[in-house]
Amino acid sequence: MDQILFKRHRRLRKSAALREMVRETHLHPEDLIYPLFIVEGENTRNEISSMPGTFQISLDLLKDEIEEIARLGIKAVILFGVPDEKDDCGTGAYIDDGIVQKATRVIKELAPEMLVIADTCLCEYTDHGHCGVVEEGYVQNDQSLELLVKTAVSQARAGADIIAPSNMMDGFVAAIRKGLDEAGFQEIPIMSYAVKYSSAFYGPFRDAANSTPQFGDRKTYQMDPANRLEALREAQSDMEEGADMLIVKPALSYLDIIRDVKNDFNAPLVAYNVSGEYSLIKAAALNGWIDEKAIVMEMLTSIKRAGADMIITYFAKDAAKWMD
Ligand SMILES: [Zn+2]
Repeated sequence: MDQILFKRHRRLRKSAALREMVRETHLHPEDLIYPLFIVEGENTRNEISSMPGTFQISLDLLKDEIEEIARLGIKAVILFGVPDEKDDCGTGAYIDDGIVQKATRVIKELAPEMLVIADTCLCEYTDHGHCGVVEEGYVQNDQSLELLVKTAVSQARAGADIIAPSNMMDGFVAAIRKGLDEAGFQEIPIMSYAVKYSSAFYGPFRDAANSTPQFGDRKTYQMDPANRLEALREAQSDMEEGADMLIVKPALSYLDIIRDVKNDFNAPLVAYNVSGEYSLIKAAALNGWIDEKAIVMEMLTSIKRAGADMIITYFAKDAAKWMD
C-alpha cells in the first residue's frame, strides 16, 4: 500500500550527536557581559535582597571577583556605581575619584585584557534618582547631555574600554561621540542603550543600585512598552549619531524588538537580560519549582536566537560554568 508522503523531521533528532550537529544557536562565555555593582568601603559584599546571588562589592574585593570572571571565559564586565553621597546634579558620576572611575582603574590594573564597559548615566548619583537634570519636575534634555558627556569622558580617562550611555536623552550618542573625540578618545566605542523601555522589570536593579526615582517615573524619557516602530527610530538615530553597538533592554518581553533591530541594522547587538528577569527565575528556583540551569540556558539561547550577539546578564557566571 502506498504511504502518504510526509516529511520525517525526527530523522535529525535521533541522537545527541545529530542534534548537536544541526543546532542553529550556540552560546559561548564570550557572548556574556557580567554586571558589577561597586560600593565604597572595605571588605563589603552585600547580597541584594531581591536578587539572590548578586552582590554589591567594594573595590578591595574586586581581585577575586575579576579572577573568577576571567577564569570562566567571560571577557567583559559592565560597571554600576553605588556612591556614598548623592546630590541634585549627580556629581559622583563624573568626578575623577567617582566609584566607577576608581573601579575601572582597579580592574584595568588587575586584568588589562578584561573589557570594562562603563554604564553612563546619572540616576545612581542623583538624590532625586532621575537620569538627568531636573527642573520644575521635568528631566531637562540638553542640560543633562552636558553632564553625560562629562561622565563619559571621565570614565574613558579612567581607562574604560567602552562607553554605554543609558539615560535615553535625545542626542546622547552625538554629544558623547563629540565629547570623547575632542578629549582624544576617538578609539573608544559607544555601546548605546538605543532601545530602552520604561519597564517594571527594572525593579530589583533599583534596589541594587539605590536608584529608585524619588518622584514620578521615567516615562518621559524611556520608551512605551507598547511601541515597536519607535524602537527602529531610536536605533536609527543612534546609528546616525555614531553608535558602534546597540542595546535592547529588557530582553525577554522584547524578543520581537531584538529581532527587528537585528534585521534592520548592521551593528553588533546587545540584549540586556534585566534584574526582574533574573529575580523571577531565582525566586522560582529557590522554591524548587523549576530547573534553574535548564531554564537559564533556554532563556539565554532564546535571546541569542532572537538576534542578540551579546547578552548582559546576572546569570553570566552561572551560565559560563554550565557551558563548561
Ligand atoms: Zn539612569
